[in-house]
Amino acid sequence: MSNDQSDKAPPLSKIARDLAPSGIRKFFDIAAKMTDVISLGVGEPDFITPWGIREAGIYSIEKGQTTYTSNYGLIELRQEISKHLDRKYGVKYSPESEILVTVGVSEGMDLAMRSIIDPGDQVLVPEPCYVSYRPCVSLAGGEPVGVATTSQDNFRVSVAQLEKKLTQKTKAVILGFPSNPTGATMPRQALQEIVNFADKHNLFIISDEIYDRLTYEGEHTCIASLNNAMQRTITLNGFSKSYAMTGWRIGYACAPPTVLTAMMKIHSYTALCAPINAQKAALEALKQAESAVEEMVMQYNQRRRLIVDGLNAIGLKCHLPSGAFYAFPSVEATGLSSEEFAERLLYEEHVAVVPGTAFGEGGDGHIRCSYATSIEKIEIALERMGRFVEKVAPNLISKAKANESVVQTQRAAK
Ligand code: PLP
Repeated sequence: MSNDQSDKAPPLSKIARDLAPSGIRKFFDIAAKMTDVISLGVGEPDFITPWGIREAGIYSIEKGQTTYTSNYGLIELRQEISKHLDRKYGVKYSPESEILVTVGVSEGMDLAMRSIIDPGDQVLVPEPCYVSYRPCVSLAGGEPVGVATTSQDNFRVSVAQLEKKLTQKTKAVILGFPSNPTGATMPRQALQEIVNFADKHNLFIISDEIYDRLTYEGEHTCIASLNNAMQRTITLNGFSKSYAMTGWRIGYACAPPTVLTAMMKIHSYTALCAPINAQKAALEALKQAESAVEEMVMQYNQRRRLIVDGLNAIGLKCHLPSGAFYAFPSVEATGLSSEEFAERLLYEEHVAVVPGTAFGEGGDGHIRCSYATSIEKIEIALERMGRFVEKVAPNLISKAKANESVVQTQRAAK
């Protein structure tokens, strides 16, 4: 029996009513009711959290560590985060006043938005992007302004594109590189140009760097390490992806003290603190999981090549993503919209992917395929997708094969 008799209760808030449900969830819900589904839908590692990290969490529970911590998070964890960012990127954040341990980057993004946005403020959101950016801006009373990026530009965003959407009301820009869903990364120089743009127009930069460890073509640039970036940047990061810790719900935000204090105030009233055992586990991750991270990145890299080659071979044009664990091929040549493609692929071939439209402007005509799954599953998914493409667009595969043999002949001639 359902208790939902909404006509007999007061209405929900306008903000809740207007909030669109995530386009990702819809497909998971359908897939969950089906058998034999290969999922390239979920954006989470298929690895289990490395043992040493789990052990630290277990040990913490065994020792009876069951209390709140400081609102900021355990000082020893903040010290380790500070050392880690200095070691990796040469960025110096004070553990006492510039680092806040959050309930994942999800909470960090919400806190960032609520700390800097007044009603009506606009926030530039390069898209396609992670599904929470727009809602977090809206929930804080702001207006998200999409800035569409394209596959021709490898889904990178330029100052020229941002400038076109700049108004008197622009308050901030959200950058999420390496990108979910496109796998795009940004060159250091292009990021410096965006920092200069933000400096010129006095904007905040919210940089979601959750995939910082998952880069395959060169090192990640931490935006706060760029010239003039520190005073206007909120760096968000976490343990979900790099350390396969999605379920532990642990992340961190770094920002200048005034911004961080505002974020901490909101956090203290809404979450109070991140779970103590997850904080202990995260501490261990930073101290000793480097080789486990490297091993996982190596495996993602193998899967990346397999899936990108496989997608191109069945006629779904796909650029080589340089970060995260997503391929973002075009399905335009099949004549199906990304929604139709994803829905039919799921029902007819039992492969779950996410339509590009779930990720905002510029996502249409694409699907997101997560390769955070085993080589065997990727191979089966590619086989099923090939069969599907053959059915809906019979000429596409032969064209792709012809292209491939031209490429091979050219390679052989060199
Ligand atoms: N940011 C991006 C770009 C993501 O892809 C995700 C999860 O998929 C998150 C943030 C959420 O991360 P967390 O688990 O730390 O809340």
